[in-house]
Amino acid sequence: MCFMRPGLLLHTCCAPCAAHVIVELNREFEVNAYFYNPNIQPQEEYGLRWEAMEKLAFQLKQPFLAESEVSLPQVDFELTAGKYDPERWLEAVNGLEDEPEGGARCEACYRFRLEEVARFAKEKGCDWLATTLTISPHKRAEMINPIGKEVAEQFGLRFYEADFKKKDGFKISCRLSRELDLYRQTYCGCVFSQRDNN
Ligand code: SF4
Repeated sequence: MCFMRPGLLLHTCCAPCAAHVIVELNREFEVNAYFYNPNIQPQEEYGLRWEAMEKLAFQLKQPFLAESEVSLPQVDFELTAGKYDPERWLEAVNGLEDEPEGGARCEACYRFRLEEVARFAKEKGCDWLATTLTISPHKRAEMINPIGKEVAEQFGLRFYEADFKKKDGFKISCRLSRELDLYRQTYCGCVFSQRDNN
């Protein structure tokens, strides 16, 4: 595939996190979004988050948004859903079930998802890899960026290092998801984060 701007495959964890990041990265890159999140359980919750991503992709393509109260540039990006394979994900975090959020289980979870995203980036002919994950105040860029960099290098790609929560990124993402009426989850995604949240 041939891109006018550098092609970037963005791992999107959910629509509220993706909205602001897609708009920002679109200034510099030809953005393709890949929703690969087999960590999310139960499947109904996965469905809700995927539907919200589809809704966001539709909304960002609409020119009318520019005239509505939500001032967003028109962004036409390709959105793909990866395979929903929670069994493989559970294998990847085996033995780490009782780790606290932000610990070794999350490290394994980030790596597992980014490896698949990198594989798909190669298949699509993108040179760059990025993730929306760092926009969350619960997620540490110091942990995510080195994993992203390492995975990208393994696949001969470049990783877009960022901490998207900075410069009011998280605040903007909350405002956008409210205004675009996007589904917003109450826990990170896996059954263990749901358990700990309860
Ligand atoms: S808490 Fe979130 S990042 Fe950590 S393992 Fe669970 S789904 Fe993955």
